[in-house]
Amino acid sequence: MKICAEKFHDECGVAGIYKKDGKDAAKFIYYCLYALQHRGQESTGITTSKGGVMTTEKGMGLIHEVFANGDVAKLKGPVGIGHVRYTTAGDSHIRNAQPFEVYHKGVQIAMAHNGNLVNARALRDQLEDEGLVFDTGSDTEVMLYLFARNIRLGAVESIREMCKVIKGSYAAVITFEDKLIGIRDVNALRPLCIGENDRSYVLASESCALDAIGAKFVRDVEPGEIVIIDRGGLQSYSMDLETDKKVCIFEYVYFARPDSTIDGISVYESRYKAGTIMAKELPVDADVVIGVPDSGMPAAIGYSEASGIPYGMGLIKNKYIGRTFIQPSQRMREEGVAIKLNPLRQVLENKRVVVVDDSIVRGTTSQQLVSIIRSGGAKEVHLLCASPPIISGCYFGVDTPSKEKLIAAEHSLEEIKQITGADSVGYISLEGLLRSVGGDGDWFCKGCFGGRYPMEIPEELILMRKRK
Ligand code: SF4
Repeated sequence: MKICAEKFHDECGVAGIYKKDGKDAAKFIYYCLYALQHRGQESTGITTSKGGVMTTEKGMGLIHEVFANGDVAKLKGPVGIGHVRYTTAGDSHIRNAQPFEVYHKGVQIAMAHNGNLVNARALRDQLEDEGLVFDTGSDTEVMLYLFARNIRLGAVESIREMCKVIKGSYAAVITFEDKLIGIRDVNALRPLCIGENDRSYVLASESCALDAIGAKFVRDVEPGEIVIIDRGGLQSYSMDLETDKKVCIFEYVYFARPDSTIDGISVYESRYKAGTIMAKELPVDADVVIGVPDSGMPAAIGYSEASGIPYGMGLIKNKYIGRTFIQPSQRMREEGVAIKLNPLRQVLENKRVVVVDDSIVRGTTSQQLVSIIRSGGAKEVHLLCASPPIISGCYFGVDTPSKEKLIAAEHSLEEIKQITGADSVGYISLEGLLRSVGGDGDWFCKGCFGGRYPMEIPEELILMRKRK
């Protein structure tokens, strides 16, 4: 069953470990993936390499479900990569679970990727015309073949050849011949960082994965950088392409964990600061400020502290809602089925409530949210959003509905107020959001807020999105 995206969703998280002490890497990759579970819950997998011979275990479900039977212990070798994947429409299938592996000219190669190529279709057509047969619909497979076919040139040159032709977003980890490789696209759209401790080098989508295994954050992978880790240590190479840093600003708004730091900016602090900015931009006469768990909470705390309105925990989230949760029908909602979020009457009753959410995509969740808060006895509900109105889709690895389904693309603020049933609705300004991440906006992608995309989007992809 396809569950409609009520929020933007990042499509993946990646991790890679190189064990300096020669011990098995798998269980450390497993712990890293656990810390990255929020980036994808559809499938997970780990590939390890021992003397260039690889073993892969992957499956559908959460990490603890896929590796429930001690399968991690079967994965031998001091080098490995792992992946968690978020489901997108219609392709929730084991064959799309990563890492992907190929055997080419006597060499085994595995790759795991976070992001999306905008020219994957054209490249795939070209490769198919050359006689290649694909197993999956994934753009990662396209990348893997492009990398593998130049492998005789060595790791750096084969990556450079691949990166010359692929366009889009990619933070990827690769392993072959007991090397661990990390690459980040020329815009650095998706995050990838480097960590280290006495026993290991680590590559991961977010720094919270380094914390999970006691590794120290070293630095972020730069735009257009190739990092190769092997017996000789860590070496950095350039893709030799023009770079233009445009990190996805939504990582700070919603995707990343608050305890991660991405490109030098703490996710928690940026969310908190967004709240303080909203208190100035969107003042409301209210009795209590609440946040939508989890990602709306730091901004709600910031709003409360800057406005002087007390903060309260007005919504309790059921932490055990899994990916198989059946969304209640409209009828059930009307009958009061509120399993995901429950209002705390002690905080809300007879209060004028400011509720801070991280984003508003279709608006259906906001409608339910307002009604849940009212059912907890709130006198007034003022809905504030810690990101500007989303008026365009994303083409860089984030699951977004078509433009017609984005509430802010189709409706005025007054209409959104009516649709959601809130007493007032407000959005942080784009300028305010950029201030919250401490930047002038130059090195962030803000395409979904109506800003410019960092690259040209092929017409075919725009048409596909319209049909979604
Ligand atoms: S379009 Fe939006 S979600 Fe996509 S990469 Fe840019 S900022 Fe992130």
